[in-house]
Amino acid sequence: MLPVIVVHGGAGHVPKDRADLSSVGVRDAVRAGYAILQAGGSAMDAVVETVTLLENNPVYNAGRGSDLNVKGEVEMDALVMDGRTLASGSVSAVRRVANPVQLARLVMEKTNHLCLTAEGASKFARAMGVPEVPEESLITDYARMRWKKNLQPDANPVECQIGKMGTVGAVAVDKEGNTACATSTGGLINQMEGRVGDTPSVGCGGYADNLIGAVSTTGHGEAIMKVTLSRLILFHMEQGKSPQEASDLALEYMKERVNGLGGVVVVDLKGTWAARFSSLQMVWAAAQQDQLHYGLYHGEDFIEPICV
Ligand code: ASP
Repeated sequence: MLPVIVVHGGAGHVPKDRADLSSVGVRDAVRAGYAILQAGGSAMDAVVETVTLLENNPVYNAGRGSDLNVKGEVEMDALVMDGRTLASGSVSAVRRVANPVQLARLVMEKTNHLCLTAEGASKFARAMGVPEVPEESLITDYARMRWKKNLQPDANPVECQIGKMGTVGAVAVDKEGNTACATSTGGLINQMEGRVGDTPSVGCGGYADNLIGAVSTTGHGEAIMKVTLSRLILFHMEQGKSPQEASDLALEYMKERVNGLGGVVVVDLKGTWAARFSSLQMVWAAAQQDQLHYGLYHGEDFIEPICV
């Protein structure tokens, strides 16, 4: 069953004209992550590379292509977690970096802290030699169009599902049985300046623990934080539930208790995986035993061989 990697490209409603591109993007990214695992690479290397590819792809709400805050600016959140030691690193409201997920990894590896935010995160990036990129290079015409459409005072970023683009995330178990997760987002369309969502919050946007498994989430960040969605799923798995049962229980609870919708990708230590969502759609892909699984709507599990 090992190794395995599962990727999401955001929960919500993917407009028809972007559905194919979104699906192709997660499939390409999961293939790249799987190749790392097959070559004996670590779960952490695989999830960071996979999420980096998705950040570079303008189809998703992460890195280049991020949704804009209410001022029309890009502020991004990202998280990584290493299931071997529970080491974790995250950045929030960070600007002008191409790959927030790589900066989150540097926070984990090079500081005694878990999360750096805003200007502090940018200063750290400069100190680490991470190139500063012009904000314009992260902004797509599509993101600007959505921002303009949602400037009305009564627009609600949480309710805004029209043309929604996806947060990205990945979970993996490598050949040695180590787990890792990574998640990255531009946040909610027209969010307030300085808003920090679930993505960089440990136990919310993701969690990895070699004693249980790993989770990466997407959806209504405020709802995800209220129920600490990633850790809640792993709690259910600790109680004996499968990744799918645990995900469904936790997503149902989030819907009932705080009226929040979302999606998750999950793996356990045996390599059993799940891609589950309470939203209308979630773009996802998984790679295991040289097979690629993918889907967008509930109940879909298309399978094709991966040539390695
Ligand atoms: N969870 C992300 C946030 O609230 C958004 C998303 O996953 O679509 O920032």
